[in-house]
Amino acid sequence: MKEIFKDSKQAFAYKSDGELRKAYWLFKMMNFNWLTSMGTHVVLAAMKLRLPIQGILKNTLYGQFVGGETLAETTPVAEKLAKYGVDVILDYGAEAKEGEANFNHAQAEFERVIAYASQHKSVPFISLKITALARFDLLEKLNDHITIDRGGIVVDTAVLSSQEKQEWENVCKRTFAICESAMKHYVGVLIDAEESWIQNTIDAITMLAMKAYNQNQVVVFNTIQLYRHDRLSFLKHSHDVAQRQNFLLGVKLVRGAYMEKERARAEQLNVLSPIQPNKPATDEDFNKAVEFCLIHTENISTVVATHNEASNLRAIDLLETEPDKVGQTFFSQLYGMSDNITFNLARYGFRVSKYLPYGTVGDVIPYLLRRAQENSSVAGQTGRELYLLGAEMKRRGL
Ligand SMILES: Cc1cc2nc3c(=O)[nH]c(=O)nc-3n(C[C@H](O)[C@H](O)[C@H](O)COP(=O)(O)OP(=O)(O)OC[C@H]3O[C@@H](n4cnc5c(N)ncnc54)[C@H](O)[C@@H]3O)c2cc1C
Repeated sequence: MKEIFKDSKQAFAYKSDGELRKAYWLFKMMNFNWLTSMGTHVVLAAMKLRLPIQGILKNTLYGQFVGGETLAETTPVAEKLAKYGVDVILDYGAEAKEGEANFNHAQAEFERVIAYASQHKSVPFISLKITALARFDLLEKLNDHITIDRGGIVVDTAVLSSQEKQEWENVCKRTFAICESAMKHYVGVLIDAEESWIQNTIDAITMLAMKAYNQNQVVVFNTIQLYRHDRLSFLKHSHDVAQRQNFLLGVKLVRGAYMEKERARAEQLNVLSPIQPNKPATDEDFNKAVEFCLIHTENISTVVATHNEASNLRAIDLLETEPDKVGQTFFSQLYGMSDNITFNLARYGFRVSKYLPYGTVGDVIPYLLRRAQENSSVAGQTGRELYLLGAEMKRRGL
């Protein structure tokens, strides 16, 4: 099994020669750190000045990492992936548009995505960001007033004004309506993890939704960011709470996407950084989390969401010895990244999906910039993509 991710033919079978060349060129560009960081500044400035950069983005980052502008536009992408046994997690990409009208609009869109997913066998999950339904500052205000323990999950709203209490009630109603619709349609909801200073609130609302809807099946999943040094114990604690409170636990395991921001904030506030001291510590906790979840498959459903080959191998090693656990363990990578992992996992019969965002170019810019930065700052990641794309081009004689 060790060699399974090296098969570039399987990895890129779904790409035409032209698409392969384009992907190679794009990763080559992102490999230049200075270019990515300059590009990020240019994009942000151009957006402020309302310069027409959308066309350039659409032909580059957008095409690589996004499924389309509308739900309908994602259909051919999902159909293509399904031919290779790869599912899709639909992600409505509008981030951080504040205001009650926008939050209500987002709720309606998430419900539309659920209805769509229920009609498409290869879309078992949708992803949901609580900040698409709630004001960031409201989540932050509640963050130190959360209790998650064996006795229950409590959000103490005493700190809120009466208007804010109403806002919070609306957030809960939106989240619960989405999860209820998902339960009725047999679609899973993966709730994203975000910045640590709003994450307690996100954990609380997610666990309350799990308690309500994860009774007989796992509908709602929380996300555990193992780049935080406190999250392995939080995972174990969540399992304990779920047992005591009689619900099934759903978890998506990730390393975490906001490392620089988290470290900068901790330094600015002169507090202990929530981030692990180094990458090996993150890797160790990620793999321990995989082991913990796969030991407890009778009451935990897991999405192993990573591009890290060693962590994926760790999970499949464990599943090889207990094949009955394969059905409730899901793997996922972002659309446009690590096709060698996704398509080779699918080939060997594992349940694997691509996280596929959709939305207008303007809506998904924060997501695209995160992808560009991730692919330029993660040591080895772009090198590996380039190597595999290059190997496949060579194999095809391009
Ligand atoms: C399907 C899917 C869903 C996702 N959902 C979320 C989400 O809800 N929330 C979220 O925050 N992220 C999410 N991510 C992104 C994820 O957290 C990572 O940023 C990304 O996947 C890279 O990590 P990796 O495990 O793939 O690979 P790797 O390349 O092995 O790891 C890179 C990651 O390691 C960590 N790291 C790097 N250097 C250090 C260091 N010096 N010290 C400590 N840690 C370090 C960082 O988290 C970095 O992103 C998701 C990813 C996927 C694939």
